[in-house]
Amino acid sequence: MTEKQRKKLLSKVEKPARYTGGELGAIVKDKSRVGLRFALCFPDTYEIGMSHLGMKILYALTNSREEIWCERCFAPCTDMEAAMREEGLPLWALESGDPLSEFDVIGFSLQYELSYTNILNMLDLAGIPLRAEDRGEDDPILCAGGPCVCNPEPLADFFDLFLLGEGEEMNLELCDLLLREKKKGTPKKEVLRLCADIPGVYVPSLYTVRYHEDGTIAAVEPQDGVPATITKRAVEDFDGAFFPDQFVVPFVEAIHDRTMLEVMRGCGRGCRFCQAGFIYRPRREKSPETLNCAAEKLYRATGYDDISLMSLSTSDYSGLQPLLEKLLCWTDPVRVGLSLPSLRADNFSDELLALVSRTKKSGLTFAPEAGTQRLRNVINKNITEEEITSACRTAFLGGYTSVKLYFMMSLPTETAEDIAGIVQTAQRVADLYYSLEHAKGRGVNVSASCAVFVPKPFTPFQWEPQDTLEMIEEKQRLLRTTPHSKKVSVNYHEAETSIIEAVLARGDRRLGRVLEAVFRAGGRMESWSEYFSYQRWIDALAECGLSAAFYASRRRDFSEILPWDHLDYGIRKQFLIREAQRAYEATPTPSCMENCAGCGADRLAGGGLCHER
Ligand code: SF4
Repeated sequence: MTEKQRKKLLSKVEKPARYTGGELGAIVKDKSRVGLRFALCFPDTYEIGMSHLGMKILYALTNSREEIWCERCFAPCTDMEAAMREEGLPLWALESGDPLSEFDVIGFSLQYELSYTNILNMLDLAGIPLRAEDRGEDDPILCAGGPCVCNPEPLADFFDLFLLGEGEEMNLELCDLLLREKKKGTPKKEVLRLCADIPGVYVPSLYTVRYHEDGTIAAVEPQDGVPATITKRAVEDFDGAFFPDQFVVPFVEAIHDRTMLEVMRGCGRGCRFCQAGFIYRPRREKSPETLNCAAEKLYRATGYDDISLMSLSTSDYSGLQPLLEKLLCWTDPVRVGLSLPSLRADNFSDELLALVSRTKKSGLTFAPEAGTQRLRNVINKNITEEEITSACRTAFLGGYTSVKLYFMMSLPTETAEDIAGIVQTAQRVADLYYSLEHAKGRGVNVSASCAVFVPKPFTPFQWEPQDTLEMIEEKQRLLRTTPHSKKVSVNYHEAETSIIEAVLARGDRRLGRVLEAVFRAGGRMESWSEYFSYQRWIDALAECGLSAAFYASRRRDFSEILPWDHLDYGIRKQFLIREAQRAYEATPTPSCMENCAGCGADRLAGGGLCHER
């Protein structure tokens, strides 16, 4: 692309800085001196992709090798896509401005099922054939990682390989192999066969899926010599794992414009709906010293005035108190804020509040997830009404006047009573505020936000039917009509997007044709409600002789072969079956901090904290 063409394109679009590169921290190398070029792609907008910690880690990690140049590419917004198609210009990487088709490897981060059509759109814009079988020796090798890779089957026709689990070690092993074989001129087919020998790498073309007449899977057959089961990779020395000293600082405001520290990976709580809670096991922590040192370096390198302490359940991090004390020593004087996005209501102590209050004065967020104790027991969200009340009382007495409560609806065994319980829980929190002496003259805001439950692989609910559209809409009507005061606001997610998310999350390879049909019919940016069309998906499914009901609202038998059964995330199927049965009995399972429930994840990464209580 010439400078003139580039300027013309940029003059036509909103927020051109999304497409320019050149930010502080961006890494530019001499392309004539590198042996392997890697395009790290995020199938959503620049603002979302630039907020993703995994992208930052992989970008810095891959570039830490002198002979590899890793560049970034994000999904162009619809105005840019239209301008590119009008001008006939291919999708380019931000650092060099070179078309993606010139790269050796294209790696996508798969975070959300509804962004799958963006992947096809990005390949199409780059002029790269969508299907792996249509790509030749000169086309890039296409790989993907991220949480959605725990069932990558709907994308199996498009990708050459998937990286299961954590990329910190695996990514460089893969790049080393590709670099070595590129130098030797090894044909792509042989390279892919060699890749399949790297633990954690899944090459879908080496596996054949056979189906029964009713559409369920009869068998997944590996070719000779490739492993029948691929086990995910997990970093053993998490405290010593690679972490960048520099983040790329965007010119336009990203969703999260701040320093992000991952204090803990994995979660020991075992909430039965939560895929992340299972697929990132075993639980591992970083030391307060490592985290404080990383925070200081990043503050100096980026100038960010906010630090977020991230994990699936930050108040379970054993070093939280010492870490906050260390950080506050230097962040307070330079007015750097700290935020703790994942706090639990059952360990929200006065001491923690005292430290948190010194950091950030925004509202507090808790996730009771269900409106009654019975349903909280079903989903294994081990918090009680008293703990929610006590955490909110502590927060109100500490000066907070706003609480966000996150719930899920359409959970297994849910009744009308559970739905009403969501609104009633929020109302009780608002009433609690006004019952406190200090509340006089001040108002409170309690918001209840309800996501629609999507059954996901590697959870005890992976066999569950999702509620149908009609059932979800009836429950949402119930939510709207349950009485509550003006101090309580109730909102919920759109049912239709959750149904398509459920279709893709537990889908098989036959959905590849559906994805392509949706893309050809104009589907892209589908995670944005203004671009999502439920009917387009239903039509595409019908065109391919499939239905949403088969994937979303069908109960699977425990004996059925699931599309992801040949992938091993450490969690034993027998454990998930036992947990499903305990859910039907509304029997909670204690967290890993209290007792090991024997999920199987201690086989990985040296067991992490599995053997400590
Ligand atoms: S092996 Fe035990 S302690 Fe470790 S994650 Fe599984 S249930 Fe928790």
